[in-house]
Amino acid sequence: MNELNHVVTELNELPSPIYGRGVGGEGGVSPSAFPLPSPLPQAGEGISEGNEVKKLKVATTSLAGCFGCHMSFLDIDERLLELVKLVEFDRSPLTDIKHCGPCDIGIIEGGLCNAENVHVLREFRANCKILIALGACAVNGGLPAQRNHLSLATILEEVYHAQHGLVSGFIPNDPELPLPLDKVHPIHEVVKVDYFIPGCPPSGDAIWQVLTDLLAEREPELGHGLIHYD
Ligand code: SF4
Repeated sequence: MNELNHVVTELNELPSPIYGRGVGGEGGVSPSAFPLPSPLPQAGEGISEGNEVKKLKVATTSLAGCFGCHMSFLDIDERLLELVKLVEFDRSPLTDIKHCGPCDIGIIEGGLCNAENVHVLREFRANCKILIALGACAVNGGLPAQRNHLSLATILEEVYHAQHGLVSGFIPNDPELPLPLDKVHPIHEVVKVDYFIPGCPPSGDAIWQVLTDLLAEREPELGHGLIHYD
């Protein structure tokens, strides 16, 4: 099992976590930081600053997730056409931009299962005025966190050595591969998160509600019909 020493990294090697929901603390801002009119501009109206139409920058990414939350994002359907008149996408599966630049809103799907996830999350937090945890995996670890009941060594042994059909199985150890964390973590254990949208996945309507509330400088509020945890 010596080879495991080369692939395990501990979350406690990272700086102290910053917990909790809320705005105004380290790394987060109030929605009032947006220079936007209220209520939300109508489709086609745009957000004008002088003669210029100003769009908010939005970035999205999937960490230890299944892209189901991004699929749910696409479930806002034809309202996407309305949205793209008000926002510009930075890093996102929709644009294929590889690094997150300065943004107004960052949306994170998935929790943290390896060192690359932590790196990308920190890049988003450093660049995004508001950070949103989208879906159960980002909020509490979700399905990938089921592995937390077992040690990483046991899991790697089971997957790469013990499964039926494996002949001379070995644990991948290429330096190009991101180091796995010993446990899967929700994102708020590493950076400050401003808003949480629960659900696996959250509905397109819930995502639309939060985004339009932020665009209109309202504190996001999910009504009874929009919030669920399954
Ligand atoms: S919350 Fe559900 S849909 Fe979203 S990434 Fe996790 S498993 Fe996939």
